[in-house]
Amino acid sequence: MAGKGSGEQTVSVGGHRLRISNLDKVLYPETGTTKADVFRYYATIASTLIPHARNRPATRKRWVHGVGTPDWEAPVFFQKNLDEGTPDWVRRVPIEHSDHVNEYPLVNNAATLAWFAQIAALEIHVPQWRVDAHGRRKNPDRFVIDLDPGDGAGLEECVEVAGLARSLLVGMGLDPVPVTSGSKGIHLYAPLDGRQTSDEVSAVAHELARALEADHPALVVSDMKKTKRRGKVLVDWSQNNGNKTTICPYSLRGRLRPTVAVPRTWEEIQSPGLRQLELEEVLSRVASQEDPLAASAVEPGSVEAPGGVWHSDRGADEQEEAHPEGGAGAGGGSGSGGGSGSGPGGGSDRLAVYRSKRDGSKTPEPVPHAAPEPTSGRSFVIQEHHARRLHWDFRLEHDGVLVSWALPKGVPDDPGQNHLAVMTEDHPLEYGSFEGTIPAGEYGAGKVVIWDFGDYELEKWRDGKEVIVTLHGQPSGGLGDPRKVVLIHTGGRDSAAAKNWLIHRMVPKEGAAAAAARGGNRRSRDVEAGSGSVDSDRGPQTPSTPSAAGGRRSVAPMLASAATPLELHDDQEWAFEMKWDGIRAVIDIDQGDVRIRTRNGNDVTAAYPELVEALAASHPGRSMVLDGEIVALDSRGRPSFGRLQQRMGLRKPREVEAARARTKVDLMLFDLLELDGEPLVNRPWTSRRRILGETLPESDGPVHVPPVFDGDLEHAVAASRELGLEGVMAKRRESRYSPGRRSRTWLKIKHTATQEVVVVGWRPGKGRRAAQVGSLLLAVPDAEGTLNYAGRVGTGFSERDLEEVTARLARMERKTPPLADVPAVDARDARWVTPRLVGEVEFAEWTDTGRLRQPSWRGWRPDKAAADVVRE
Ligand code: AMP
Repeated sequence: MAGKGSGEQTVSVGGHRLRISNLDKVLYPETGTTKADVFRYYATIASTLIPHARNRPATRKRWVHGVGTPDWEAPVFFQKNLDEGTPDWVRRVPIEHSDHVNEYPLVNNAATLAWFAQIAALEIHVPQWRVDAHGRRKNPDRFVIDLDPGDGAGLEECVEVAGLARSLLVGMGLDPVPVTSGSKGIHLYAPLDGRQTSDEVSAVAHELARALEADHPALVVSDMKKTKRRGKVLVDWSQNNGNKTTICPYSLRGRLRPTVAVPRTWEEIQSPGLRQLELEEVLSRVASQEDPLAASAVEPGSVEAPGGVWHSDRGADEQEEAHPEGGAGAGGGSGSGGGSGSGPGGGSDRLAVYRSKRDGSKTPEPVPHAAPEPTSGRSFVIQEHHARRLHWDFRLEHDGVLVSWALPKGVPDDPGQNHLAVMTEDHPLEYGSFEGTIPAGEYGAGKVVIWDFGDYELEKWRDGKEVIVTLHGQPSGGLGDPRKVVLIHTGGRDSAAAKNWLIHRMVPKEGAAAAAARGGNRRSRDVEAGSGSVDSDRGPQTPSTPSAAGGRRSVAPMLASAATPLELHDDQEWAFEMKWDGIRAVIDIDQGDVRIRTRNGNDVTAAYPELVEALAASHPGRSMVLDGEIVALDSRGRPSFGRLQQRMGLRKPREVEAARARTKVDLMLFDLLELDGEPLVNRPWTSRRRILGETLPESDGPVHVPPVFDGDLEHAVAASRELGLEGVMAKRRESRYSPGRRSRTWLKIKHTATQEVVVVGWRPGKGRRAAQVGSLLLAVPDAEGTLNYAGRVGTGFSERDLEEVTARLARMERKTPPLADVPAVDARDARWVTPRLVGEVEFAEWTDTGRLRQPSWRGWRPDKAAADVVRE
């Protein structure tokens, strides 16, 4: 230990040097507890506390001027990110959040605890999961519920609820241990085997909370809203969420007295006079008694080393190094022949193997942190990969990931020549736009360029056995014409052969030779040349798209995928347009005869006479198929979906005229699919967009061709926000128009979350509204089309909406719920309806259990069918 002036000194903790100061500063005025006492506490408790904190990214709550100081004088602050003053020996881990990365400390040694004491980080909060030796997040290894007494309730009520929760948990095969939180309540922890995700654990905890509430409504509440809590105990299940933390067992609390979160035995908990314990009591307790929570501190699959030892040089760090890696990383994922859907080690995170092979700080490839969400998109990408051996990576979007094969010889041109396809691990969807160089020494080192990409039509998908698809690539892509291929597993079972598939080109009736002659499978694109000429215009044409339907062409519009700005890797490849908040319209003009169809093909021509008049007059003698959005602008010129509702679903001329007089509509055109009999869908977006601008150059009454945004994504997003618009549409410049498909070449980036929903039932209102709809019960179909309950919406309706909704739903009643998973509390007085009507809600976020948080009604979507609804 070396002196450093009056208040400062340097100490050695576990071989690490730490400068400490102001040891006599009082941090808890009520008890006179000083910083020196806090040091002593953390020194003594280190070996007991660290096993509970090890490898969990820690959030610190600091009281730099001690507890009880008024907030305006010295605010208490939660600190997540490490700052410059952090000693370089503090173990740390970067964690990616939605829009930033924070570097968190790991409380893996006694020296880090000593540093926490120095910076008055009295409280240590940690998640229920740990990171592995490479800093990758593992599944949670413990379950927690926080029993929090509302006003008028106290520890006694918490004990009662703890006993009730214990019985349920034991029945589920879990072994909970209580911890008096050092604040008001009790936490219950139970060790897990690390096989479930945070979402899965959360869902179980939520169910438990609901069950307790249902059985003991006078004692338990599972809803966070404070008003409902008087005299009851909140069973807070939410701390199992992967983004949440809980006070670490044995952490001090920043309350007026130096209380501690202390693991207790069940006997203690049930004894009279139970209270929260303080620093000195805890020190004497650990000297004479085992930690009741010790078993929960052992990581699944690891041999836990004891925590560090104060003042014993090097000890703690050597133990850290010996800490074995468990969980994710081993195993072969989908590539082990099981095909898509079989995650690593049977776990549910299908990107675990992908992540285990890559270090996001060393490779430019996307390494998303979160487990993938299911999607229903059908995009594909083929990447030319100049790795040790040149090969082509063939990836099909399936259920939220890119199911992947490596093709040493590429996609076969010749139907008589099958090529080997070696299945590899599932890749994240973001990989679909990845091009770049993976540095030497990293997995798959070498240059990657996109050889072709687009959407596919699915004919057959048998997991691990057979996949048949028709690929629609880009005009200048390697595939040329749409190509049908079949991938067949060879049937091998040993670990190498199990990955082997064959890819075969299938030919339509015209015959193999002709197709092969036409195919022109352009081999390796010039790696340095980038994406080639974007606006080369005349790509191959498929005459098939606008099909004859009732004598008229009917095109299913191309759909966009939801995205965040982070998913667009190269601004140059994308063009940005404003996203108009209205309904989709595909317009077919044939020699002055105009038809307007919605997204699902409904003819709504009669509902928008002013658009028909303007379009019919604009281009006499020409024919075209246009794509755009019908909007109703508010007084400030912003599209209002609410206003547009007044024009939707009307047919009778008198009603249409009356509505037209009240609310006018505009048409924003953004694509041109056919011009004078020539289909344009196979041309690049840049080309279509240019021709659209040339054909409809000026705003013509209510018909507009809004300009493409001149600037990068960041500015486009800022402009759209400023204009009060819904968001931005990013369109890949080179992409073809894929009718009827949800593509990743059109991405929608919205400012607020919205979701289309299927109405499955309703609950009556209260009081004078008892005869009317009080809230609607909502569902969203999953990839298989099964309706999943998504919660209730009871706000955002106008008086008129409510009357109209009540009348409408009354005609659709049925006796039984059209879906299985509605919780009893919502189903209680529900009236069920045939799940046909689609609406849209705005909401804050998805809960871990797949429910919409704070949904607010936006309006009906008569332009959409229940089967069109997908989870955003
Ligand atoms: P969503 O309705 O949230 O699935 O978003 C996709 C929809 O945005 C499309 O189907 C269109 O109806 C609409 N949209 C608004 N502006 C545009 C635009 N500039 N390009 C393409 N679609 C747009």
